[in-house]
Amino acid sequence: MSGATLLKESGPREVFCGLTSIVWLHRRMPDAFFLVVGSRTCAHLIQSAAGVMIFAEPRFGTAILEERDLAGLANAHDELNRVVKNLLARRPEIKTLFLVGSCPSEVIKIDLSRVAENLNIELKGQVTVLNYSGSGIETTFTQGEDGALKALIPLMPKSDQKKLLLVGTLANAVEDRLISIFNRLGIDNVESFPPRQSTELPSIGPETKVLLTQPYLTDTARELKNKGAEIIEAPFPLGVTGSTLWIQAAANSFGIEKSLVDSILNPLISRAKQALAPHVEKLSGKKLFLLPESQLEIPLARFLSNECGMEIVEIGTPYLNRDLMKAEIDLLPPDCRIVEGQHVERQLDRVRDSSPDLVVCGMGLANPLEAEGISTKWSIEMVFSPIHGIDQASDLAELFSRPLRRHDILNPKTLTTN
Ligand code: SF4
Repeated sequence: MSGATLLKESGPREVFCGLTSIVWLHRRMPDAFFLVVGSRTCAHLIQSAAGVMIFAEPRFGTAILEERDLAGLANAHDELNRVVKNLLARRPEIKTLFLVGSCPSEVIKIDLSRVAENLNIELKGQVTVLNYSGSGIETTFTQGEDGALKALIPLMPKSDQKKLLLVGTLANAVEDRLISIFNRLGIDNVESFPPRQSTELPSIGPETKVLLTQPYLTDTARELKNKGAEIIEAPFPLGVTGSTLWIQAAANSFGIEKSLVDSILNPLISRAKQALAPHVEKLSGKKLFLLPESQLEIPLARFLSNECGMEIVEIGTPYLNRDLMKAEIDLLPPDCRIVEGQHVERQLDRVRDSSPDLVVCGMGLANPLEAEGISTKWSIEMVFSPIHGIDQASDLAELFSRPLRRHDILNPKTLTTN
């Protein structure tokens, strides 16, 4: 590993919970339904995060635990069974039903795996019922996707075919572009997990080479490895360098000639660098502080420091998987400080002491920091924006240069110094 300093911190946290990932997962797999087993707070979170769909029936909902359930006066398992059966009678097109646990369902110890098992026996394959936890007690918001993917792995068929498996949700257009690059390199058998339909799960086996698109899939990567797949070690496909190394790692693993890889990637790299230039001008020399929330913080810091010239004050990450993150940490400037975990009060003190130009943080911290005159960027935007790949590097940089430009417009004093 590079000379980055790795520290740990614990205390009060300020992050979104794993339910949030339903917002992008329900779009990715439109034949699946996500039923949160939680309180009115959970229902409120998921509806505000996703936007209430008035004209289209949404593909998520909440089985609300009422006071009687929480007080243990009702049999929550029976209630949930009833709710699921009503839902499936009304929505026969649902192919996969995820029962998503929450803080309240964990506190009153509803055994969702048992409910799912019983429903699978009763429904006899008509619908597959799975469960995972989106509770905010111990997890952060991207871990919801990790839990959902891990729940799908036991259903993946076995295969001995040589293939490249891209793991982690990507915007469809970005995914198509990346697959087309791999096809041009001669890697024809490329599949994605999660797939675009929950029933079209890719097969897996010892000839499957997994290329992670997202850094927060620790449990998923471990389970895929247990199924015999090989995890390709690479940085993540953010920025020109990260995306280039990511594609090269897959190409190496498939024995593709370096000259062919260069001939395909070099034009993309020069175009992307040109598009990046105006953002580099804005970002270069600016101080960046990343608070922990998405687990994308280390790849983002690597991109913003190495390709955009930003000065990194601190990289917070809610959880650090040293194996998956090794290639990223090796690319960081040697004096970087990475803090795993969170003590939000101490971190905010360090933010104020270091007067950064930009703070990447959760929505709950952004407004108070903006009120103190510190520009912010919501970390959740990174999972909703198409930022992966060489072509997207300038769009990714723009997400960070935009708040600085906005700050300049709102602060005429800064304008005169530019
Ligand atoms: S799962 Fe927990 S943190 Fe998330 S909305 Fe429900 S109560 Fe809040």
